[in-house]
Amino acid sequence: MISVDLHLHTCHSFDCATPLDEVVHASQRSGLDCVAVTDHNTIEGALRLRESTDLRIIVGQEVGTSDGELIGLFLSEPVPRGLTAIETIARIKEQGGLVCIPHPLGRRRFHANSKVGSIENGQVTLSRAVRRANRLLTDDVLTRVDMLETINSRTPFKGTWRAISRLADLYGLPVTAGSDSHTAREIGRARVVMPDFTDAASFLAAIRDARPSGETSSLFIHFASMYARLSRRLC
Ligand SMILES: [Zn+2]
Repeated sequence: MISVDLHLHTCHSFDCATPLDEVVHASQRSGLDCVAVTDHNTIEGALRLRESTDLRIIVGQEVGTSDGELIGLFLSEPVPRGLTAIETIARIKEQGGLVCIPHPLGRRRFHANSKVGSIENGQVTLSRAVRRANRLLTDDVLTRVDMLETINSRTPFKGTWRAISRLADLYGLPVTAGSDSHTAREIGRARVVMPDFTDAASFLAAIRDARPSGETSSLFIHFASMYARLSRRLC
């Protein structure tokens, strides 16, 4: 089994100042075997890291679509921002990548017994609260993506994490976990422990046996992103 943080940012994101070498050191310090580098709208940092370090890197991108954010993993080309979710999913899959919806319920609070939807004769009906949480949560999108991110350290409510797992169950989707770190000290705060894999196909099989875990990051961490945005330094 290997330990993987499936969502983190580097200084190649507009709101993150973590240099690439700090990403490597922090990942190693927190016992990660592999990380998915998922900068906003670029794969440059991920490609550079993959070439310059022994740490295993999944090349990813958090893509801003016209409907909300999607993560592509196992990419070889950057995905243009601003396309619709359906077009973006197609672009990711054309290059053999996998698609995950990060923080699908945003920062909304869902309780342990919050209803996320129901299924009847194979047809899913999502609850109003879920539909209002994220425009991406439609049948069209949820039947095309590969995974949902259930644990994101920057979403503060554990009840919301559990609600995402129930949503994933409705569609038979596996779940992932990632720190969504924008500072080095957040790296590894959420992770999956999963069977090893060699490529996108074997990852997709292995993620079904993954154990996601994680802790929430303090709300203070959002000030670090704001600061990074204002004091932008180049990688
Ligand atoms: Zn992110």
